[in-house]
Amino acid sequence: MFRCAHRIAKLFVIALLIVGCRTALCQGGEPSAPLARQTVRVRLTTGQRAIDVASPERITASVAGGKRTLPPGSWTFRAAEATPARQEFRVFVKTFQPAERAAAMGFLDQLQREGYSAEIVTLGRRFHTKSGRIMDTRVLWISAGAFPRLEEAEALRATFEGRDVWGWVRARTVAEGRGIVAVRGNGEEQTAEWEVPLALEADGPIQLCWDDGGAGRKQPQARAYVGRLEIGIAPDGTLEVFETLDVETYLRGVLPSEMPADWPVEALKAQAVAARTDVFAKLGIAHELEGFDLCGAEHCLAYGGQTAWRPRTDAALEVTSGEILTDGERFIPAVFCANCGGWTENNENVWSGPANPNLRGVPDMLLSTEDGSDTPAAVGMAAWLLDPPKAYCSGDPRYYRWRKQFSAEELTAVVNERYPVGPVRSIEFGERGVSGRLKWVTVHGANGAAVIRKELPIRLAFGGLPSAMFLVDVEGGPDRPAQFTFVGGGRGHGVGLCQHGARGMALEGARHGEILIHYFTGARIEKVH
Ligand SMILES: [Zn+2]
Ligand SMILES: [Zn+2]
Repeated sequence: MFRCAHRIAKLFVIALLIVGCRTALCQGGEPSAPLARQTVRVRLTTGQRAIDVASPERITASVAGGKRTLPPGSWTFRAAEATPARQEFRVFVKTFQPAERAAAMGFLDQLQREGYSAEIVTLGRRFHTKSGRIMDTRVLWISAGAFPRLEEAEALRATFEGRDVWGWVRARTVAEGRGIVAVRGNGEEQTAEWEVPLALEADGPIQLCWDDGGAGRKQPQARAYVGRLEIGIAPDGTLEVFETLDVETYLRGVLPSEMPADWPVEALKAQAVAARTDVFAKLGIAHELEGFDLCGAEHCLAYGGQTAWRPRTDAALEVTSGEILTDGERFIPAVFCANCGGWTENNENVWSGPANPNLRGVPDMLLSTEDGSDTPAAVGMAAWLLDPPKAYCSGDPRYYRWRKQFSAEELTAVVNERYPVGPVRSIEFGERGVSGRLKWVTVHGANGAAVIRKELPIRLAFGGLPSAMFLVDVEGGPDRPAQFTFVGGGRGHGVGLCQHGARGMALEGARHGEILIHYFTGARIEKVH
């Protein structure tokens, strides 16, 4: 059994922003590419001092100056010299469809007149199907400025927030990292120094091993990959690894990482179609400015390489081959989450960006009435959370309803990591979305108050809550709270497909098409071979 050979003293928690480079400029929308032959470039890891590589076959390395061969065995690649990749940080403030170019130009003009060095960045692609259809995923993002430091970009984003404009910051790689790795293996006798970036290929899968520092795992991970591997230098000077492979092979490593392979087959099929659609919708957008397509973490899709492959999830991909979700014209952003808590949420209540008609909050149950008297708001949050209805996803005992308790000292420590309000006195709820998820909260402390907006920042503010659908029970007087108990429902953002709900629907006999149409309002399943 292959085990990690290296010893890594320090692990680095790397922000999702950091990475390598492929494209020189951020202009998408090049001539259309065939959908069936799409490949993805996935960032498997970053922030590594050393990467272990093993193969029972010889490995061919493409390095500067030609090809090199490594005999079968295990090898450690360690960063010896690094010129980090260089990035800039862009503040985006609005998005337009390609058909809205005139409106985009108008908005651009307005920003420029206000003194911003605004630009339009086109992301996304035009794919064509075998039947000659064009699937256009292009979007026009308005950039209000680009900065060498993240803090400067965040400051500008904050000033827009003050005007009720919900911007977002993205890193763009402007110069690829370079460096030298020391290669050592097969009993320490064989060593070499190679320039990076470099690529590795073998006749069979290659096993990689690295420490998964920030993810809370103690053991290094060993996983096999079948695609072309590249090792590069990240913006922080550490090693990063990418895999390039075709979309369906990639999905074989995604599906069992996103949904247990022993779940009902119709749930797996629904997940397969949603994941395939999500990949196409993200290509050329998600990490395009950083020079790759998708990251291997939950930010994009959880991905476990060949090691994750399972016969039941492979079969779900096979029988849904070519199936994607559209609004009749474009891919819909087929996002999903673990457990919606009984009601899914409108996308605009969770993320920046305009409302998407396919991502409306829906009840995760069959309702007896249609007069709105069953909504979390109508029922009241206390009843909704403490005396919950039976939903498709209520078979998930851990997260359909959950509780998290903090002493006043614990909560103060957690909140003050991000918001320096001093000892926490109370939490004031802002408006809630249709599912009962909070759109904002105000934390009142002895030294001030902080308004926290949007689903993910709210969850992170309180130490990483499972969801933003919660109430807080406070014990102790208003001036001296002793204990805060968060009572909540669901796990994840709550937009799109509810995975536990898909399981529940499948157990009740629903087919994968019915499941998908339930969660994606107005969507249709199309076959695009
Ligand atoms: Zn990602
Ligand atoms: Zn649900």
